[in-house]
Amino acid sequence: MKLAKYSIGVGDRFAHQGKAQLRAIMKANEAGVGISPVWNKSNREHIYVHTHPADVRKEADAAVAALGYNGPYFVDADHVNLSTVEPFVETANFFTLDVAAFIGKPSSSRDVAAFVASCEKYMGELKIFGIDHPLRVTKDLLEEIASKFLVATQQASEIYKYLVEKKGAGNFVTEVSMDEVESPQTPVYMLFILKMLADKGVPVQTIAPKFTGRFNKGVDYRGDLNQFAKEFEEDVLVIDYAVKNFGLPEELKLSVHSGSDKFSIYPVMAEIIKKHDKGLHLKTAGTTWLEEVIGLALAGGDGLECAKQIYANSFNRSEELCAPYADVIDIDTKKLPTVEEVNTWTGEKFANTLRHIPGHPDYNSNFRQLIHVAYKVAAEMGETYTSLLEKHEDVIAQCVEENIYERHLKRLFNL
Ligand SMILES: [Zn+2]
Repeated sequence: MKLAKYSIGVGDRFAHQGKAQLRAIMKANEAGVGISPVWNKSNREHIYVHTHPADVRKEADAAVAALGYNGPYFVDADHVNLSTVEPFVETANFFTLDVAAFIGKPSSSRDVAAFVASCEKYMGELKIFGIDHPLRVTKDLLEEIASKFLVATQQASEIYKYLVEKKGAGNFVTEVSMDEVESPQTPVYMLFILKMLADKGVPVQTIAPKFTGRFNKGVDYRGDLNQFAKEFEEDVLVIDYAVKNFGLPEELKLSVHSGSDKFSIYPVMAEIIKKHDKGLHLKTAGTTWLEEVIGLALAGGDGLECAKQIYANSFNRSEELCAPYADVIDIDTKKLPTVEEVNTWTGEKFANTLRHIPGHPDYNSNFRQLIHVAYKVAAEMGETYTSLLEKHEDVIAQCVEENIYERHLKRLFNL
């Protein structure tokens, strides 16, 4: 099972926006891009929202049938490990093997030595086609990489073998993710991580490294754009080298777990993948949930009231809601509006404060990040929330579609 050159992962916490998301992708495909939709949802999200992996499959199939979409599409068991993968096995056909927790777990000195010995021919000045300086590969560096990543890549291999046993080889897409960690994996690290995966027989098709810079939830990238561009381009070229030299699948490409809305790196990535004629997988996760809240606010009446209620609960429980996301949010609580103030707002004002239009005078990234991590609050409202999604479907669907098409796909594919 192969992914298309371009694919986009759309998360949908409450499983109501599948059609709107697919419409945005189909619109880009009508313009000639050729993007495969991937519906992703992590175990953590399922737990908070009380959904089952089968619900995502149902949603995807229903959206595809309703819109008569006839291209390939995928359901991604996002960020799974050996202890959480089981409920996803039947209905997912894309598995993101999250091995971040195993980075740095100690390996035997024999395993490390064996890996270093297997890299003999790459030692010294390693020339990678397209990178203007050779990579300096020393024994010390290889030992360091092996010590940090042998156990993690072994873990990927265990999950992969489990999936092959359950689903059969070739019946699913394999992604390996290491993005939810503090320190980035540089291109030379990624090269040898890919070698380990190849050695262990994991036919990885997308790989999600931790890039340099901050990838906070729902807001723009923070970091040095030139450095990001250099690292991203070297990653693309290293992958090309790994495919040719380690026998990995030819469609192997980068997966960018964006945490949504990394608008300033979109044109950078767009230029590089175009220059080298390479593919890309982009996960956008929580953006759609925010569009639901925006749509409710714009709908007015009970919709706006619900949006305000969500903010009030988010504000009052911010510590609890932010804790699981502490590494990927930066909220300046002094810049959060009070609940009393928000309760006086119009739907327009609420929507403009939440909607990600950098430079808009009302836009408040603190407000946005807080609501981004607060979907648990809406989940607790249960049917009260989902029935409002259905009641105001028209305005919400328009927000969801416009967001994915206008703010994401247009920027990424120069539409
Ligand atoms: Zn991720």
